Amino acid sequence: MAYVYDPANIFARILRGEIPNDTVLETAHTLAFRDIRPQAPLHVLVIPKGPYVTFDHFAAEASEAEIMDFMRTSARVCEMVGAAPGQGGGGYRAISNAGEAGVQEVQHYHLHILGGRMLGRMIPREQA
Ligand code: 5GP
Repeated sequence: MAYVYDPANIFARILRGEIPNDTVLETAHTLAFRDIRPQAPLHVLVIPKGPYVTFDHFAAEASEAEIMDFMRTSARVCEMVGAAPGQGGGGYRAISNAGEAGVQEVQHYHLHILGGRMLGRMIPREQA
């Protein structure tokens, strides 16, 4: 089954400028902005500007230019916010939730970059 992108989703509205956002970095194909309900002192969302629903959708169907821009922008964000370990930063976790099991709230692909505190195990042992 193919992905169907809903242009009414909240991130599409942010991209159209209908809703304000706290931008960290913007490029030709990518926007990075602060999460409105941060789950850690650092919580940035990185999204492609194109209409992709999930990580696998983006990875399979985006152009090389979009993918390259998304990856390089994500790296720049990690460095800019002091999270990149190789640049003296404190570390981070990059997560993308997809679909029902992933408990994806917004149906526009986004990468969460979380940090600024010890994050603990990705999934607690008792829930694995
Ligand atoms: P998901 O559960 O889909 O992986 O995460 C969606 C994220 O989007 C949540 O962390 C939520 O706080 C964030 N979010 C939802 N609506 C808005 C909004 O209008 N602005 C911003 N900046 N973040 C939002």
